[in-house]
Amino acid sequence: MTRTSPDSCPGVLRLHQAADGPLARVRVPGGRLEAQQLQALAEAAHELGDGNIELTSRANVQLRRVRDATELTARLETAGLLPSHTHERVRNIVASPLAGRVGSRADVHQLVPALDAGLLAAPRLADLPGRVLFTLDDGRGDVSGLGGDIGVHAVDADEFAVLLAGLDTGIRVSATDAVDVMLAAAHGFLDLSSGQWRLHEIENGVERLTDLLGLAARADLLKIAAIQDIPIGWLTQDNGLVSLGAGVRLGSLPARTAEFIAAVERPVFLTPWRSLVLADLEEWPAEQVVRVLAPMGLIFDANSPWLLVSACAGQPGCAKSLTDVRADVGAAVDSGRIQPDSATFNSDAPHSELVLPQPDPTSSDTPSAPVFEAGEVTVGERQHWSGCARRCGRPRGAVTDVVATPDGYRVD
Ligand code: SF4
Repeated sequence: MTRTSPDSCPGVLRLHQAADGPLARVRVPGGRLEAQQLQALAEAAHELGDGNIELTSRANVQLRRVRDATELTARLETAGLLPSHTHERVRNIVASPLAGRVGSRADVHQLVPALDAGLLAAPRLADLPGRVLFTLDDGRGDVSGLGGDIGVHAVDADEFAVLLAGLDTGIRVSATDAVDVMLAAAHGFLDLSSGQWRLHEIENGVERLTDLLGLAARADLLKIAAIQDIPIGWLTQDNGLVSLGAGVRLGSLPARTAEFIAAVERPVFLTPWRSLVLADLEEWPAEQVVRVLAPMGLIFDANSPWLLVSACAGQPGCAKSLTDVRADVGAAVDSGRIQPDSATFNSDAPHSELVLPQPDPTSSDTPSAPVFEAGEVTVGERQHWSGCARRCGRPRGAVTDVVATPDGYRVD
């Protein structure tokens, strides 16, 4: 595939003109935010944006309806969230959120600063498309299945599989070499690219880039699967401290809630499932955090129906949207229609066996996929609601699609 235009991914210095106003995307390598950085984002969201911090599927954040881009730039620079004006959009680095704390083979968070620094230090790598994604998986398989372009996956404490376009190349490297090999792959991507935004768009890109790396490859390859493994609730760390995994309704974190999280003064890890992990807590403070933040809407219950749903921006943020999908999915959750045991869902069946109302057999209309009013949609299991057929933000893996059409919602 050959692209005829550069990617249009937004940043802080290049805002996206959304239907509801300018949108800024802030890269957060490894998803790690220090407390003062989260506080700076909360204040910016409150004073310069729409009052919310949006979490993205790459563990970055977005601010909507930005009123003063110059002021936002200055604040983010002060907070250390915009270390480069040339490379800001290429710092798409996702790492296993619990790495180094809960049950990981290797602490891939230790590699993130070196990878970020390597990207920033190479003037040429500013030319990487903003779509290129780096993944660092601690061996549990939670981020390798996101379909990143260049990644490493821990197979042992000091051995990593090199992934390209989400596939195991057979190359194995040590922790010492992992960052250098990923940076070499980034340069190789530019060598091979003729305008493509992603490695899989380059003809035989994986094979050609593997050859360019010039490293020995083994034949027995890892099978990489797309799984959704949202860390939720009380997670005892290997060192005895506690991490709290918290779901965020539709990935939209109110600035006020973010300020309370920042006040805990512990590291926060954003996840690619639009949730967060508050790490390194003693037990008593962890209990108080749950007591305060659960009533504010953070989700610590792994059985919450909010964890089953995601949605695109919809109206009013997207001009293409046929409806306000986020309001519709919120109403579905609040009314109890989003449950694994929903009446129209057979929980023992795969998604293709959803039990949906059938069209009226007496109708003379041409048979077509049934559509539903927003208040009729009742689906169990994981689902993604979209305001049009583009299905932006759809998670990878097994997901039921709820897609707005001019006549109502279709369930695929
Ligand atoms: S899926 Fe359609 S409506 Fe939703 S954000 Fe994308 S383009 Fe807009």
